[in-house]
Amino acid sequence: MATISARATDDSVSKAAGDPRCARGLDWIDSNSRWVTDQQIRLSEIPAHEFDEARRGEALKELFAASGFEVRTDKTGNVIAERAGSDAKSVVLLAAHLDTVFPAGTDVRVKRNGSHLVGPGISDNAVGLASLAGVARAISESRIRTTKTIVLAGDVGEEGEGNLRGMRALVESYGSRLAAIIAVDGPSTDHITTQGIASRRFEVSVTGPGGHSWSDFGAPNPITAISRGIVQFSSVRVPDDPRSSYNFGVIEGGTSVNSIPARAAVKIDLRSEDERELSRLEAALRDAMQSGVNSEIAFWRAGNSSLQLSTRSLGTRPAGKLPDDSPLVAAIRNVDRYLGNRSRLERSSTDANIPLSMGIPAVALGGGGKGGGSHTLDEWYDPAGRELGLKRLFLTTVTLAGLER
Ligand SMILES: [Zn+2]
Repeated sequence: MATISARATDDSVSKAAGDPRCARGLDWIDSNSRWVTDQQIRLSEIPAHEFDEARRGEALKELFAASGFEVRTDKTGNVIAERAGSDAKSVVLLAAHLDTVFPAGTDVRVKRNGSHLVGPGISDNAVGLASLAGVARAISESRIRTTKTIVLAGDVGEEGEGNLRGMRALVESYGSRLAAIIAVDGPSTDHITTQGIASRRFEVSVTGPGGHSWSDFGAPNPITAISRGIVQFSSVRVPDDPRSSYNFGVIEGGTSVNSIPARAAVKIDLRSEDERELSRLEAALRDAMQSGVNSEIAFWRAGNSSLQLSTRSLGTRPAGKLPDDSPLVAAIRNVDRYLGNRSRLERSSTDANIPLSMGIPAVALGGGGKGGGSHTLDEWYDPAGRELGLKRLFLTTVTLAGLER
């Protein structure tokens, strides 16, 4: 497997930053953060709901190509840009997810509110995509040559039911050449995400005979059965340590107010720092939903087979952790020291889960600036200070990839 040399983790950051070519890249960042923000707005205004990322991907691909990277789209839909190093067997990959949680038809225009930009997806993850475009430009302006090949990717399928399929495909195709992966997700530069939270997502559906609200009254109702299950599961205690969570995120069913529904379904997201706790939660969920169906049937004294329950997996994110003393963490900490940036180690559920679960060194970092309200229509981003995030990514990439004469 390709590795990060110990050399990349000592005080080579200040040496690299002092190299005239790197200084050119850093200067470019200082005078062009407005350009990066403009690209961010443009990308954010191209709808990119899960499984519908192609148009946004094309726009990102043009930005990569304009910076002299070799670009392609893989069969999964990932947009990939490469800048070859002298050692073809070793790759540093920076990836930002293209997709958003907002369905087609959502108004994704970006509005200005003082210094804030407001728009669905403006932070998560237009900031990651624009940061990659900025890093690509800074690299091309610097005209550096590196040992490792630098790969930038806009990847598909991070949100919702995408099941990290974009990152899975990238890891599969680069395989043992991957020395380090940085997922750029969201703005904040105050953390280094080194631990991937495990998650499991399900759709639970209940079907039944349905009928007329008056003449068939007394037939068991799938919506009521699901509601009983939700109420029961909601009284399950979730531990603080290991930190765990659940969310009933989508509920649907029925056709009209005066029909007993023939089907209802709910989508649930379970997360935990610990796989065993996650298994316990999954078992509790299955029990609760089954017992919701049973009590609906019992309440109406209906036949045992009058309602059918089925549970479908919508995706699984494996857990994983980068050791605190890994060379990748050391490299980022050196960059943070050089830039005067304070950061702490953090856990989250991101594209980095996939490489982390496979033992490939990976982190998630923010792209710079500030933001909030992600996954809501009031999502916002403030570009003030974004240069710090861009320099952090640029210097980390250069140190990991290794400068060559
Ligand atoms: Zn994200």
